[in-house]
Amino acid sequence: MQRIVIVGAGLAGLRAAEELRQAGYDGQLVLVGGEPHLPYDRPPLSKEVMRGERSETTLRPREFFDEKNIELRLGAGAVSVDARLRILSLADGTELGYDELVVATGLVPRRIPGLPDLGGVHVLRSIDESLALRADLAEGKRALIVGAGFIGCELAASMRAGGLDVVLVEPQPTPLASVLGEKIGGLVARLHIGEGVDLRAGVGLTSLLGVGRVAGAVLGDGSEVKVDVVAIGVGSVPVTEWLEGSGVEVDNGVVCDGVGRTTAEHIWAIGDVAAWQLEVGGRKRVEHWSNAGEQAKILAGALTRTGDENRMAQVPYFWSDQYDIKIQALGTVAATDEVHVIKDDGRKFLAYYERDGMLVGVVGGGMAGGVMKMRGKIAAGTPIDEVLEAASP
Ligand SMILES: Cc1cc2nc3c(=O)[nH]c(=O)nc-3n(C[C@H](O)[C@H](O)[C@H](O)COP(=O)(O)OP(=O)(O)OC[C@H]3O[C@@H](n4cnc5c(N)ncnc54)[C@H](O)[C@@H]3O)c2cc1C
Repeated sequence: MQRIVIVGAGLAGLRAAEELRQAGYDGQLVLVGGEPHLPYDRPPLSKEVMRGERSETTLRPREFFDEKNIELRLGAGAVSVDARLRILSLADGTELGYDELVVATGLVPRRIPGLPDLGGVHVLRSIDESLALRADLAEGKRALIVGAGFIGCELAASMRAGGLDVVLVEPQPTPLASVLGEKIGGLVARLHIGEGVDLRAGVGLTSLLGVGRVAGAVLGDGSEVKVDVVAIGVGSVPVTEWLEGSGVEVDNGVVCDGVGRTTAEHIWAIGDVAAWQLEVGGRKRVEHWSNAGEQAKILAGALTRTGDENRMAQVPYFWSDQYDIKIQALGTVAATDEVHVIKDDGRKFLAYYERDGMLVGVVGGGMAGGVMKMRGKIAAGTPIDEVLEAASP
């Protein structure tokens, strides 16, 4: 009987297993997870979990895996793969043969080299890291967040909700500048400043101070801040070192074609770790929730030969919750696009993204309707003048 082994029991790994069963695959299916937990959801880790509203985010109960005949191997991750013999080695010393292997090992937080090893300094990717950070927070404490990307901004919002003083440090001129550009970054900066965040844009972290536990930080402009807890959110790196020597090409993620095939036979990759070849825009790694499900569907179609190839959504979507504002992005927004702010009431906003005279994306803050109704226009490739005219009062 055929055996498909999926490495990484996160969102993408779970969705791959679900979609394979959905597509009619009835062979053996093994889901290997490095963490001891059942697959769980990560978006709440910086939001509801951090605010103390939830402590677990499991995606499917154990019975689901029994029902679908999905074998779980949790708590011992993959350490290497022999692609020629098609054998996977796990951290507990066991070996697992496969007919097809799916890589879904996600990311780990990037560390800042040279920082002293002090208590009270956190990163955030896993539920254990989320609960450890939360346990370190208490009203009136002073938190330093390093990096105003999505995770840093969401943490700032959750910590303010918990009554902490927050210093948010970002080397770029605004939060989210490298994803959404400085114009929208400026509106996000305004939101955080309005909520009482001490935003220090344009400066990085130089060093941390303290004996045993963090007590302060030195910033790039020479200033010092007193802090009780530090959260570092300076991006993440793909988990690929276990693939060394396998013949799987890695270049900022696992190099894949448009349906998830890697450069090694019978090995596929999806989710945050995978750099798929897109029909438009070249090869790209996408670190967003919806992407994992979309890729899983396509991969399952290709693996079971039931699906059309190359059907990645041309209108990708992601969101981020900060305070009462849901920031949503539809389309292929880039920091280099021309940004047209259509609405701005001082808190909520809506903006169209233009590239080469065409509408390529929409970003809204607290404007779900305004964002979602543009899906068709983005998919159809509409000239920007047309949508700007329609939006003018
Ligand atoms: C705090 C946080 C908040 C987020 N919020 C949003 C949001 O609001 N909106 C949005 O669109 N996206 C958000 N995301 C991104 C979204 O969660 C990811 O895109 C999604 O989790 C990707 O799924 P994945 O399965 O590829 O990776 P992961 O979820 O990281 O899963 C990979 C799994 O592989 C396991 N693994 C690693 N190495 C091995 C190994 N060698 N062997 C076996 N297992 C291994 C890991 O333990 C992990 O469980 C957020 C992410 C984080 C961390």
